[in-house]
Amino acid sequence: MDVQSAAKLSQVNPALANIIRQLAAAVSSQYGGTIQVVSGYRSYASQAALYANRANNPNPVAVPGTSKHERGLAVDLRISGVSAKTVGALGERLGLRWGGRFSKPDPGHFELLANASQDTGSSTWEGGDDADISSLATIFILGLVAVVVIKII
Ligand SMILES: [Zn+2]
Repeated sequence: MDVQSAAKLSQVNPALANIIRQLAAAVSSQYGGTIQVVSGYRSYASQAALYANRANNPNPVAVPGTSKHERGLAVDLRISGVSAKTVGALGERLGLRWGGRFSKPDPGHFELLANASQDTGSSTWEGGDDADISSLATIFILGLVAVVVIKII
């Protein structure tokens, strides 16, 4: 990959960087196309600046504090010589979530699935799953309440 893409990959989750390198190799060898990483990790401040200017952005922009880019779990690619749909399918085969399927499609966006990000063995990239755990706990408690209510009735 080009120097700028490699530099951006060095700032994201290592598992994501590895998959994007594999994706670049597959796009090149199978289709003769290229991908470049135009955006990777973003600080809260840079996400906020992007959001403030979202009217001028052709792609959807996440609310600051909610973007996978702020956790180093997403990249935006510039795709050349092959369709975004083809690269999206390749990325999905490699285990990524493709932005082309979002309700507001973002065909250059690829992100690591939440479970994949836990396999890096690096404490730097943990976190973000507390909400999932607490909602599971809520469902469990609601289930217990339902059982109790049914027994009372
Ligand atoms: Zn993105």
